[in-house]
Amino acid sequence: MKIDNLPEVFTAALPVLKKINEAGYEAYFVGGSVRDLLLKRHIHDVDIATSAYPAEIKQIFEKTIDTGIKHGTVTVLYGGESYEITTFRTESGYQDFRRPDHVTFVQNLSEDLKRRDFTINALAMNVDGNIVDHFDGLGDLDKRLIRAVGKAENRFHEDALRMMRAVRFMSQLQFTLEPETEQAISDNHELLSKISVERIRDEFVKMGIAPGSQKAFQIFLDTGLSEEVPGFKGKKENLALYPQLNFSPTTEANLWALMIILLKLPNEKIAHFMRIWKNSNAMERQVADIVGFFDLISSRAPNNYDLYKAGLRTIVSTIDLANILGQPINGRALVDRYEALPIKDSHDLVVDGHFLLKNGIPAGPRVGLLLEEIKKAVLEGIVSNNEEAITEYIALNN
Ligand code: ATP
Ligand code: MG
Repeated sequence: MKIDNLPEVFTAALPVLKKINEAGYEAYFVGGSVRDLLLKRHIHDVDIATSAYPAEIKQIFEKTIDTGIKHGTVTVLYGGESYEITTFRTESGYQDFRRPDHVTFVQNLSEDLKRRDFTINALAMNVDGNIVDHFDGLGDLDKRLIRAVGKAENRFHEDALRMMRAVRFMSQLQFTLEPETEQAISDNHELLSKISVERIRDEFVKMGIAPGSQKAFQIFLDTGLSEEVPGFKGKKENLALYPQLNFSPTTEANLWALMIILLKLPNEKIAHFMRIWKNSNAMERQVADIVGFFDLISSRAPNNYDLYKAGLRTIVSTIDLANILGQPINGRALVDRYEALPIKDSHDLVVDGHFLLKNGIPAGPRVGLLLEEIKKAVLEGIVSNNEEAITEYIALNN
């Protein structure tokens, strides 16, 4: 198979391949970019594989960065773009079911393609647009199948993360899992416990926020993978709701909020749940805000102060979340009310702590409390956001 009209991301990189070829080495586009080209999906970056050693690549190009020399990867800066160029390699000596640290450079492409995870990820393309396909990746693209390269069982023993990658690609591409590959995941799901939480999390999030997440999540549950990840053990019944959702979440924060709601975690357990997944503090706060606001609007109509405290980002996320859960709320009305608030954050209030001190409020906790009271009054329309009105309000309320 030969591709004629290459998109710009590839044509821009052709001179890089040509330069490597001219120096006497092989070079191909590999992996995700070739797959996405054939699926007509958006291509974010192109990876290049070559028979040249890193030191040789560094001689060919003027500007290079030693990204992962040990693993054979050099980043080349060319024409305002950067390209990861990796020497053909095999990975041997897998221990503990994790990606090995030692790689062996090899001289031919087919050895390199063999180490790749799925047939659709084991495609390569040369400078002329000719596709190299040793494992019928093209057939699987047609059949929309995720199939392990070689014997699935062995491949998951080498690197158990590939089981999560399988469900992640299912979700992103809306593909199905080839039965033997699925069986091998069911048989080996326990190996996932050997993999670091961060690596599992990255794949889990990619799975969760992609369009096919409901079907992928069903497989994630059916194969037992869900039993091996933080906080999900013994929770299949709660999580079984996920595949029935109307939509996939589109943001990471909403994915976590959704998990917390499905797991029925009480407030005091949210921080722990977010931490065992090694999420950042910022993500933890964002998710707690969404869950908090979701609980609030599930129990009563929010007042203006609630909307102010939640902020637009949390309001919009929560509206999406309610939709995903099939509990639609009048989101437009909430956003309109937020937009109409007289103040959006404390800087919008014309008075501050200094103003209160100057106006005879003694220093101490009362200052903060009074400011909050003034904010509420402004938000509820009891007092206007100007110094005169607020001064009068303070005089009447102290
Ligand atoms: P994305 O669009 O998400 O970047 P991708 O296919 O490029 O998808 P990467 O994780 O960037 O995925 O990996 C690039 C390529 O490296 C894959 O297409 C695959 O060929 C190979 N690869 C990555 N991780 C593994 C793994 N754990 N085992 C085997 N091959 C892998
Ligand atoms: Mg990639």
